[in-house]
Amino acid sequence: MSPASLDRPLTLALSKGRIFDETLPLLADAGVHVTEDPESSRKLILPTSDPNLQIIIVRASDVPTYVQYGAADFGIAGKDVLYEHAAQHPGGLYQPIDLNIAKCRLCVAVREGFDYEAAVLQGSRLRIATKYVRAAREHFARKGVYVDLIKLYGSMELAPLVGLADAIVDLVSTGNTLKANHLVAVEDIVPISSRLIINQASLKTRAKALQPLIDAFARASAT
Ligand code: AMP
Repeated sequence: MSPASLDRPLTLALSKGRIFDETLPLLADAGVHVTEDPESSRKLILPTSDPNLQIIIVRASDVPTYVQYGAADFGIAGKDVLYEHAAQHPGGLYQPIDLNIAKCRLCVAVREGFDYEAAVLQGSRLRIATKYVRAAREHFARKGVYVDLIKLYGSMELAPLVGLADAIVDLVSTGNTLKANHLVAVEDIVPISSRLIINQASLKTRAKALQPLIDAFARASAT
């Protein structure tokens, strides 16, 4: 789909938190600085030191949507988010570069003391709470385990503690969140990192402006 307007600056869609923080050094390598912090500013459009580049701050799961519809020329999103997005919008995004940032892993986790192996062996039907329904469904199908999936939008760690689910499928980085909630990871599903995605029309019509940034991201993420 086409970019909304060719006279607006090049627009990069990012989510707050790890992806924003870990993108700053990549932008700095391209000579671009961001003066406002989305954690303290309420602005959703952030200017940069390059008048031809602005950043929009959106929810992580909305980054692919903004890029696919051309409201952003490019964006950075986790493999987890892209995989779920692709289930609903196949073939819409060009994903050229693994930036190797915001690394973590998608895991199955249960309450401490819950015998996951035994539950799987017994063939019990497990209740799984997750934001990552496609990845979870495919993981348990590969294992031949029957599951009921419950879609949540956040605070997945709570679900096993209050009896909503036997297990969760969630991202784990340091493991501190699981530990603080007396949960343990029992299975790794897939390693996750963030990728640069580019609107296909922008790649053609704004190549001159986009290419140096794409090249700088590729260089910075390879070092
Ligand atoms: P941690 O306590 O470091 O293991 O982080 C776990 C929490 O942070 C969970 O709520 C995850 O959903 C979230 N999380 C961890 N890594 C990422 C990531 N790369 N992108 C988005 N959320 C993440």
